[in-house]
Amino acid sequence: MLKKLLYIIWALILGFLIIFGLKNGNYKTFLSSMENRSFDIRQNYISSVGLRQHNNNIVIVAIDDASYEYILEKYGEWPLDRSTYARITDYIEAQSPRSIAFDLMFVKSIKSDKNSDNALTEIFKKYDNVYTAMNLDNQEKDVRKPAILPEKLSVKIKNNSQKVDTDYYKFTNCRSILEGILKNTSNIGMINVLRGDDGVLRQMPLFLNYNGKYYPQLAFKVALDSLGLKDKKEFVINKKGELILGNKKIPVNEDGSVTLNWYGQTGTYEHIPLYQLILAMEGDKKYNFDFKDKIVYFGATVSSLSDIKTVPVDKVYPGVEVQTTYVNNILDNNLIKKTTPTVNIFITVALVLLIISIVLVLDSMPVILGLTVTIYFAYVILGYYFMIHQNLWLEIISPIVFTIIAFILTVIAKYLIKSKDFDKQYKLATTDGLTELYNHRYFQEQMQMFCANAKRYENVFSLIILDIDFFKKFNDNFGHQSGDAVLRQVAFILKKNVRSSDIVCRYGGEEMSIILPNAKEDEAVAIAQKLCDMVASQTFKLSNNKESNVTISLGVATYGENDGIEPSKIIESADKRLYHAKENGRNRVN
Ligand code: GH3
Ligand code: MG
Ligand code: MG
Repeated sequence: MLKKLLYIIWALILGFLIIFGLKNGNYKTFLSSMENRSFDIRQNYISSVGLRQHNNNIVIVAIDDASYEYILEKYGEWPLDRSTYARITDYIEAQSPRSIAFDLMFVKSIKSDKNSDNALTEIFKKYDNVYTAMNLDNQEKDVRKPAILPEKLSVKIKNNSQKVDTDYYKFTNCRSILEGILKNTSNIGMINVLRGDDGVLRQMPLFLNYNGKYYPQLAFKVALDSLGLKDKKEFVINKKGELILGNKKIPVNEDGSVTLNWYGQTGTYEHIPLYQLILAMEGDKKYNFDFKDKIVYFGATVSSLSDIKTVPVDKVYPGVEVQTTYVNNILDNNLIKKTTPTVNIFITVALVLLIISIVLVLDSMPVILGLTVTIYFAYVILGYYFMIHQNLWLEIISPIVFTIIAFILTVIAKYLIKSKDFDKQYKLATTDGLTELYNHRYFQEQMQMFCANAKRYENVFSLIILDIDFFKKFNDNFGHQSGDAVLRQVAFILKKNVRSSDIVCRYGGEEMSIILPNAKEDEAVAIAQKLCDMVASQTFKLSNNKESNVTISLGVATYGENDGIEPSKIIESADKRLYHAKENGRNRVN
């Protein structure tokens, strides 16, 4: 009983924790961070097995450790002179690349000289496929005056989705870049990144709100260029939360970001060290690069330049590769789509119901466990399948956590029901239906047990057998119904007036027996006498509202030399005494 109570209390506490937890942010954060990890593991597997091929036309000109050293050595200063960037751009443009994007910010700096700045500015005037970056922030206006961005850089968004909040990322300040660039080109995009609570970059913004206007990401603009949508200035997000790009539909998250789909660890895209490009440009035949139709991304990969992120597939991943991945995702139309909360709830409920029915329907615990684990396993595989083939992020953690909880609770409930059922069966098998006393079979079992224990532990017990006097006549006078009522009431008197450790049984017909543990003969006789007197003094209610009296005769036997140490002998002895009591006038003990 106590055990059951503990189970119930435990189940209640668990239930309370779940409900409380669901309402509490921490629990949700825990689940979502676990879910993020499960996403990372899936992405890692998919990219490491090579199930996803990146676009070979996207290459990186890497400002790597070697290039950093080379530039310091050759030019005696860092960063690289802007006129050199201008010359490199000219050199690449001669090979007709698709586009050139600088994941670098050409800000006004003390070091810059006017001529170099002008050379670079000219480049942006000359080529329509050269892109560069800006970054929005929330710096105090007193510290830095926010740059005023030209109208041509902003876009319009028609958001038809209730789910997507395009104003999630709002910024009030921004460092300006060279005025000449701002004036000469509209190929400027933002390079703000997003990190999860755990510092891992999984998402990127699409558009950023800067003082009420929307500005697209650099990667988004570079991708648009390749899709032939360079001049698109108005974007529609449909009811389902998808950004329409020609025949492509880009899944947008609630916060207006997109979730990237990774191709592999750093170095997936061809890295051309900047110094080799400079050498090639200066005529060094050792280096030869082909930029025809390529999307060329300039960016730092050297960790000391601090543009390094942690992404699902790599701990040290250069920001420029995040950009190329983003471009690649838009071109491949494989940005990650997340299952909606409604779908997640539906899946969870379906899984919970499945697991509950397995636990309830099946009997064998190993089979139940095996099947449950198989279902979890199959579901996880499904999670991989959808990510590989549908670019769909099927939520794994919540459904499994909830089904595990449902599994535990159902197993407990089933155990409680079963044990209750068992109690019922046991009671049915050992008690007599009319009197609710123990039945004859139970009496015989107990006699065996008491004899065995008495022998082993050298203790004693007594047996009373009793029989109602003139019961045949009673039945004849008052009817069987009244006889039954009397039987029940006599049984009740016996049970009420013996110790709880005494075992009262219906021996058969209107005969009853009582096993009295540890009772010596004289004690047993005294108890028998007490019972005899009680029955005699009682008025019994009969079925037809009449009343009557009955008496009983009792025979007492005790385990030991006189009455025997075998059940049959002791019973026989008690029976004999009962017979004598009848002989001697009934309503008495012998
Ligand atoms: P005695 O004083 O010698 O015991 O006389 P008696 O009439 O009681 O004789 P006996 O013990 O042989 O009688 C048994 C009777 O008890 C037979 C039957 O009518 C009655 N009896 C046995 N079982 C039941 C029962 O379940 N319900 C009812 N109403 N009567 C029963
Ligand atoms: Mg009898
Ligand atoms: Mg009788």
